[in-house]
Amino acid sequence: MDSSSLNLEILKKYNFANHLRREGITLKRKPLTTLQINLGKKCNQACHHCHVDAGPKRTEQMDQKTAERVIAILKNSPSVGVIDITGGAPELNPNFQFLVTEAKMLERHVMDRCNLTILLEKGQENLAEFLAENEVEIVASLPCYSSENVDAQRGRGVFERSIKGLQELNQLGYGKPESGLVINLVYNPIGGTLPPPQASLETEYKNRLKAQFGIEFNNLFTITNMPISRFASQLYRNDQLDNYMNLLVDAFNPSTVDDLMCRSLISVGWQGNFYDCDFNQMLEMEVPGMQKTLWSVNSIQHFQDNAIAIGSHCFGCAAGSGSSCGGTLS
Ligand code: SF4
Ligand code: SF4
Repeated sequence: MDSSSLNLEILKKYNFANHLRREGITLKRKPLTTLQINLGKKCNQACHHCHVDAGPKRTEQMDQKTAERVIAILKNSPSVGVIDITGGAPELNPNFQFLVTEAKMLERHVMDRCNLTILLEKGQENLAEFLAENEVEIVASLPCYSSENVDAQRGRGVFERSIKGLQELNQLGYGKPESGLVINLVYNPIGGTLPPPQASLETEYKNRLKAQFGIEFNNLFTITNMPISRFASQLYRNDQLDNYMNLLVDAFNPSTVDDLMCRSLISVGWQGNFYDCDFNQMLEMEVPGMQKTLWSVNSIQHFQDNAIAIGSHCFGCAAGSGSSCGGTLS
């Protein structure tokens, strides 16, 4: 079964909207403060859990005209203080540096979701310096401090190259006290389990990475694997999909709902379409309402009072301590 028909099957069985209703919860937006920009599906890796189904052979990429429109909309959106750039490997998009420098000129905080190994790719020799010069906050996946677990999830040799990437960033000041250069690491479970407590795992990561490789970083974000795309297909093949969905539903935590990231974030895809988050983007669940693209609105504020499109995958954000692009919620 392919990813899209699989996602439809899950949607029919587990109903997040009904669950919220039963709990008496209404999902309403707060002021929109973050614009997440997905530059496309091209990546130098092809990780098992990837919710984007990204990889080296994917060709979908945001073009220059669309990148320029993103900046025009950002200019008209004063509440949006943060742009969060993701992909694929966003740095492979020829418009990546344009978006960063333009957003910085507009005095916005810029985050780059970086897979670390991209820093070692041919043609990316100036990337680390560019990120440091522009004080870009880096959010980097490292699902374990052991090479076996990282390579099992992200591909052979990824751990060693990720460590080299982290060491290069540390040399430039990333993760060092008072440098102002922030690097956060992201942990996600290898299989169909919820992440362990974020604070204790962060301490363990810091101790291990410092002792073994001299690496320093700012924060660890623990993220729940979303039951969509490549990860859902993998669970389905192993006959574990229902178990995982039941785990998420049973662990539903109402106190996470107030901070679900879709309440303060809007996501734009490589073609210029708006979504309530990057996960909805991968499911092609567009924002509710008539205006759906960069060319049909003048400002992000347009979405302030919009409803939010939700589905069964949303249990992944609201299970246990909650999950978002910035780690746990409660
Ligand atoms: S998880 Fe990240 S690094 Fe891995 S294939 Fe997907 S986009 Fe690339
Ligand atoms: S997956 Fe659902 S709950 Fe999570 S951010 Fe997206 S819309 Fe919100």
